[in-house]
Amino acid sequence: MGGSMNILVINCGSSSLKYQLINPANEDVLAKGLVERIGIDGSRIKHEAKDKEKQVIEKPLKDHKDAINLVIECLLDKEYGAIKDVSEIGAVGHRVVHGGEDFADSVLITDEVMKAIEKNVDLAPLHNPPNIIGIKACEEIMKDVPQVAVFDTAFHQTMPGENYMYAIPYEFYEKYKIRRYGFHGTSHKYVTERTAEILNIEKDKLNVIVCHLGNGSSISCVENGKCKDTSMGLTPLEGLIMGTRSGSIDPAIVTFLMEKENLSPQAMNDILNKKSGVLALSGVSSDFRDIEDGAKEGNARCQLALDQFDSKVAKIVASYMTELDHVDAIVFTAGVGENSISNREHIAKKLGIFGIKLDTEKNNVRGKEAVISADDSKVKLLVVPTNEELMIARDTDRIAK
Ligand code: ADP
Repeated sequence: MGGSMNILVINCGSSSLKYQLINPANEDVLAKGLVERIGIDGSRIKHEAKDKEKQVIEKPLKDHKDAINLVIECLLDKEYGAIKDVSEIGAVGHRVVHGGEDFADSVLITDEVMKAIEKNVDLAPLHNPPNIIGIKACEEIMKDVPQVAVFDTAFHQTMPGENYMYAIPYEFYEKYKIRRYGFHGTSHKYVTERTAEILNIEKDKLNVIVCHLGNGSSISCVENGKCKDTSMGLTPLEGLIMGTRSGSIDPAIVTFLMEKENLSPQAMNDILNKKSGVLALSGVSSDFRDIEDGAKEGNARCQLALDQFDSKVAKIVASYMTELDHVDAIVFTAGVGENSISNREHIAKKLGIFGIKLDTEKNNVRGKEAVISADDSKVKLLVVPTNEELMIARDTDRIAK
């Protein structure tokens, strides 16, 4: 193997592909980019190598294999590339959404692993197929390079049955594996590990509640460094209200609306995943910045959306406090958690009953690691920007070695 062993991190969507090339020795991002509109007119790549000018190249790409070939071409380019030879890619780490009950950690991809990922397509019909296509394309193009799968669900596999089982006939768990899986696991894991470092507490002694608040949102209860509970469920629809997802609602609403509006399961699914959440409540946008602006201008529905979002976050955090014998920190991450000063302030205020106190001055940060609680707060509050790509690179490096 020539050169150093860099890790290529791949996150494949149905028509897009995000990538980063990371040197695990110093965790430098050597290059990153995004391929869009794969298999659609107007395919293009946005590529940027460290200390080099950003490139946008438009080129027809009929499938993910074309896309990965173009990524490698860009990485090797003399002018705007990052490496001289493909052998400088030591391993590829793939984000895979659903590992079902088969994977509690990242894993070296073998034929057997591929079969298990394919088996879990039922549980993530929109996400696992493009992940599989990405893995197959990389296997064809980089034959002897180890490929590692990093699952969004893996971190949550340590949950006890009382938290992952649904109280519906047991046969549906046996027949269809219907249970809570949880998502954003790579983010929850990264933030947990980083928090242990920041607070100088051994990872396996750390109790934290991680609030990943973005376009999709979930909260995890972490005991002794392991996930004990999480708010997303069988799918990412459960739990908090999100940009366009309803989060938890009375399940009877689903059958009621399907009957009244004569909706197919697919149409109902679309309403709950794409037309609900803060978008539906505000009537304005799924983007929290627009909603904050609306609320400032006196739009009552924008205020309602923000109030309900903050209230649900606080209520889930409060319920997770009952699952821990002490809490070292409550941590905010992802787009809203890292950037929204006002959401953090309102959430912290609602947790005042627990002796939790925010320091408004320290809270005046965006996108930076910070302790934002007052010195006399019973529980520390932190902002820790997430980094799923780095977590994937670390896992890939560990497993490929
Ligand atoms: P995704 O789930 O798509 O990865 P992100 O974690 O990037 O989402 O979060 C996107 C959300 O973060 C958007 O709703 C956006 O409004 C919100 N956001 C980003 N910056 C700010 C900000 N300065 N204030 C409030 N919300 C913000």
